Amino acid sequence: MRVMAQMAMVMNLDKCIGCHTCSVTCKQTWTNRGGVEYAWFNNVETKPGVGYPRRYEDQERWKGGWVLDRKGRLALRSGNRLKRLSSLFSNPDLPTIDDYAEPVTFDHDTLVTAPAGRDVPVARPHSALTGRPTAITWGANWEDGLGGTPEHGAGDPNLGGGLAEKVRFEFERTFMFHLPRLCEHCLNPACVAACPSGALYKRVEDGIVLVDQERCRGWRMCVSACPYKKVYVNHTTGKAEKCTFCFPRIEAGQPTVCSETCVGRLRYLGVVLYDADRVGEAAAVPGETDLLDAQRDLFLDPRDPQVAAAARADGVPEDWIDAARRSPVRALISEYRVALPLHPEYRTLPMVWYVPPLSPVLDAVGAAGGSADDPDHVFAAVTRLRIPLEYLASLFTAGDTDAVAGVLMKLTALRGHMRALALGDPDDRGPLEAVGLTPEQAVDLHRLLAVAKYADRFVVPAAHREEAAGPPGATGLRCPVDTHERRPGERRVALGMPGRRRRTDGSAR
Ligand code: SF4
Ligand code: SF4
Repeated sequence: MRVMAQMAMVMNLDKCIGCHTCSVTCKQTWTNRGGVEYAWFNNVETKPGVGYPRRYEDQERWKGGWVLDRKGRLALRSGNRLKRLSSLFSNPDLPTIDDYAEPVTFDHDTLVTAPAGRDVPVARPHSALTGRPTAITWGANWEDGLGGTPEHGAGDPNLGGGLAEKVRFEFERTFMFHLPRLCEHCLNPACVAACPSGALYKRVEDGIVLVDQERCRGWRMCVSACPYKKVYVNHTTGKAEKCTFCFPRIEAGQPTVCSETCVGRLRYLGVVLYDADRVGEAAAVPGETDLLDAQRDLFLDPRDPQVAAAARADGVPEDWIDAARRSPVRALISEYRVALPLHPEYRTLPMVWYVPPLSPVLDAVGAAGGSADDPDHVFAAVTRLRIPLEYLASLFTAGDTDAVAGVLMKLTALRGHMRALALGDPDDRGPLEAVGLTPEQAVDLHRLLAVAKYADRFVVPAAHREEAAGPPGATGLRCPVDTHERRPGERRVALGMPGRRRRTDGSAR
């Protein structure tokens, strides 16, 4: 067992109102520059919808993520090294600006400089790339609030397998929810493995995936390989850029900008300890629906004295072990098991997880003439929700509807129990017991999901710069990514700042 620490995020989708504050504050912080006008390190998309860039989830088209080869080994879907090198100068698996949406600005000067006339002046849109007038025909969230869903919703890759027939886009019969997305800072990042220059790397101390700007040669293999399409090319510098998980803030013990500014207070940040020796094995389990449990099994319980001792021996600082014990992310993923990963079938082992949205289930119970106190009635309603289980399963469990239903039933039982408590109704614990929650756990989970304070949502230990410098000859810290895609000696680690690395023998470079 090799214990490593990862900064991770959970988002509670029931509370996202699609205000895009997270996207805007992220943009102001990281991509408010020339060359990345089109890039949204954090974007919020409406589901059902084709997403940003268009149909990024269609891996047959974009060749992102990992697959198992004939020997059952992990291989990049974008091909082996030879194939990738052969397409260095002509890579067909890259989204175009039309897939992302042309960035626009508006001719605001006209509003104040137009001469007096009979017509009200209009600020026309101009391309932020060419400066020429343009028509706005697409955007990063074109289906916003269902606006474009009747026209484009059926293009959502999650509506395959006959589900499009089941989903109705007519007014009053449709459904929608918002899906905020950022780089997943995966445990098995395809972007890192695909980079021919070794410019992308996963930091040892907190698992944040970064791009070394000095090493990047602009080959764009990372863009193709990332199944979430969360690496962008700065068209001015020609180099890759991506979400940094706000590492300067994280190092100072502060939450990411998107988390800090989230209006719905639905983001949770915390440390997760995991067994780095089993990352490759977990990503390579044969069955796609087994990937969720395989990844959950990687996570270690920091309250276990043996795990804590192993973490200490592997160089995890004591305050990080303590933070892992208090981590809301660990609680939601491993303890209460109500958070799920986005598209585990990509095999990158993503580390931004989601509490799936729950339609108004108690209304559904009442509409069917059922009783909210009867577990059978409540749980039967979960299978009849307006958001089809199959759709959520396509997003979060590689198609396993039972796994999604299990989480929704837990949330439903929790909601019913807390409502009964609030209304002073007789306390029927049937639904709660059926999902394996005690009343005390229900109150604790409710506190975490509904009314968590700042200090409960964000448990971010500050970086240890003294350990980042590392003693000469230290060999304990290694990149968790170690697949046959990596070159010998490529187990580099990065220190506190991007670009500073050392070999596993401790020598700097
Ligand atoms: S989500 Fe982030 S870490 Fe994962 S493959 Fe894409 S860019 Fe890399
Ligand atoms: S700021 Fe929060 S509530 Fe608003 S869109 Fe982003 S994640 Fe959703």
